[in-house]
Amino acid sequence: MTTFPASKAPVKPIVSDVPDAHGRFGAFGGQYVPETLMSALRQLEEVYESVRQDRVFWDELRALFATLVGRPTPLYKAAKLSAHAADLARKQGQGGMGATIWLKREDLAHTGAHKINNTLGQGLLTRRMGKRRIIAETGAGQHGVASATAAAHLGLACDVYMGSEDVRRQRLNVIRMRMLGARVIEVDSGSKTLKDATNEAMRDWMGSADHTHYIIGSVVGPHPFPMIVRDFQSIIGTEAKAQCLRHLSKLPDAIVACVGGGSNAAGIFYPFVDDEKVRLVGVEAGGRSVNPGDHAAPLSYGQPGVLHGSLSYVLQDQNGQTANVHSCSAGLDYPGVGPEHSYWKDAGRVSYTAATDEQALDAFTLLARTEGIIPALETSHAIAEAVRLAATMKPDQNILVCCSGRGDKDVEEASRLLALRNSTNSSISNNF
Ligand SMILES: *Cc1c(COP(=O)(O)O)cnc(C)c1O
Repeated sequence: MTTFPASKAPVKPIVSDVPDAHGRFGAFGGQYVPETLMSALRQLEEVYESVRQDRVFWDELRALFATLVGRPTPLYKAAKLSAHAADLARKQGQGGMGATIWLKREDLAHTGAHKINNTLGQGLLTRRMGKRRIIAETGAGQHGVASATAAAHLGLACDVYMGSEDVRRQRLNVIRMRMLGARVIEVDSGSKTLKDATNEAMRDWMGSADHTHYIIGSVVGPHPFPMIVRDFQSIIGTEAKAQCLRHLSKLPDAIVACVGGGSNAAGIFYPFVDDEKVRLVGVEAGGRSVNPGDHAAPLSYGQPGVLHGSLSYVLQDQNGQTANVHSCSAGLDYPGVGPEHSYWKDAGRVSYTAATDEQALDAFTLLARTEGIIPALETSHAIAEAVRLAATMKPDQNILVCCSGRGDKDVEEASRLLALRNSTNSSISNNF
């Protein structure tokens, strides 16, 4: 097996047979869009096909990753978090002794999450197409900030669509976007969250595609977006693989990542998909209960359906109407998921589970107190599952977790939720 320093890790896409020429991941994916968007998608397919083989493009992206983003992001051994899992294992007495947990620190990437890997890549594509304006949808505001950052750096105009509920929850990110020169357009329709912002961004693009590129923020939407976003985010897994080989001299036994649209998970999973011994676990938002409307876990509780231009697992009612969703984290609050995850689910390659709001809040506090790292609420879902899983495994085993973002944006919301919980049930606060 070859080892190479993470900084020299190839940025170029890994060749694979999915999606096929029609943008299908098995049965999933495709291009379920109005006629008016087909020419924009064709143009994007063509330009991406041409840059895939273009060294200059990937060298430029690699240079931006190194100098603007701060890549490679570190691989961090979470020793005290692992010790906590070992304690859990002893208490539960199920035979596990606690594996070692390693964090891939995307929270240390510029702007505080993995989103920037994608927006810089698509920003460069925008310039290749000769377009001068980008639009984006945002939930937590992280993709909006990352888009605004890429736009400022590359000299592009930027409009960001954001649900008014998310504008309230993520005020600081709204200020950051405006500071970077972007316009934030509040969306008041539907549940006033990510799904509605995505609808509005698509509507804008239908009338503006000749001079505007739509930077989708996750591995969702019509082909070629799920493939393009996966390829740009694969830098996470490519670096992590090289770092594991260097520090552990072997691959991790399991990889855990949270799944909203699925981009940080796809990014860390993809370079390991052919390594069959590596167990891959995606963690969705289990919300406050398994009842419809109380969670955002389409792979756990949804059915195949079409949302935002592709066929994938979707949370929907009996009439196929998209269901309402809930999660404590704005970035996971989405009723759909990327088509490649649906493909991996049905193929049995990745197992998907859900962490509840409560479990995510516990993990949020746990990582802050044990390691001095305040994770995003999204990321906290992955941390919760990693600790649970580690307690069932052995000390010589390793779990790699995608620490997708930092929690600065969430401290207000998290302290509000923790205070609420402590006032209704004082026993829960003694969990650790
Ligand atoms: C946006 C976001 C997510 C969810 O999006 P994916 O496309 O599933 O990665 C997860 N973590 C953080 C920190 C985010 O900002």
